[in-house]
Amino acid sequence: LYLLYIDESGRAANPAEHFVLGGLCLHESEVKRMHLSAESILTQYLGQSPDAIEIHADHIRSGRGRWRSIPIETRDSILRDLCNLLGRAPALFCVVRAPEAVASVDPLERSLEELLLRFHSYLARLRGPSQKRLGIVVADKSRYEATVQQVVYQWRSIGTRFGRLHRLVEVPLFIDSRATRMVQLADVVVHVTYRRYTAADKSLFELILPGFVAESGIRHGLVHLAKNYRSCPCPACISRRLRAA
Ligand SMILES: [Zn+2]
Repeated sequence: LYLLYIDESGRAANPAEHFVLGGLCLHESEVKRMHLSAESILTQYLGQSPDAIEIHADHIRSGRGRWRSIPIETRDSILRDLCNLLGRAPALFCVVRAPEAVASVDPLERSLEELLLRFHSYLARLRGPSQKRLGIVVADKSRYEATVQQVVYQWRSIGTRFGRLHRLVEVPLFIDSRATRMVQLADVVVHVTYRRYTAADKSLFELILPGFVAESGIRHGLVHLAKNYRSCPCPACISRRLRAA
């Protein structure tokens, strides 16, 4: 079973804003190792049992909440090390919706659809023993409280429409992000990606970029839904032009 832990950054409901949906995918056997790697980064810098402190990229970067008392150098180092860890992750995915890029009555739908199709294609491309590989999407229930019904409904309609999402468990699993580092790491992925596209803050994004799913030089894991994709210099659009060539 492959788990895709997802989070979002920006507001899907406002078509005039950037919106990022994505996260990290792990095989069930890889979850514990990733968890321990994240814990060891926190312990290294905070020197204590870090269980109680949540990884929240925006708070780490700007020194808010529980991170307020931690020096900026330490916070920067933690975020950089987490991004290096994510850059070596088995598979990252993000769909970046540019402002006014999607002429849809439902602004969440296109991003979710693209993400599910990319995840599904990834599962289908994996090599190895031929048993069917299944995927499940795991999301933070508190972050999704407002949209949970909508997401589940869309999930079903998209699955039906494409008919080929047969590798995905029909509904996403909603959990408390405080209980798992994996959803917190998904938050880092979408936050850093959001900053790349909205604040031209590329340094951390460059660290996670190698983690996005790629095959034969085509970066399937990163999608930029933008009207100017033919000239956009971002890695997703460059990859899209390569694929089309
Ligand atoms: Zn682009």
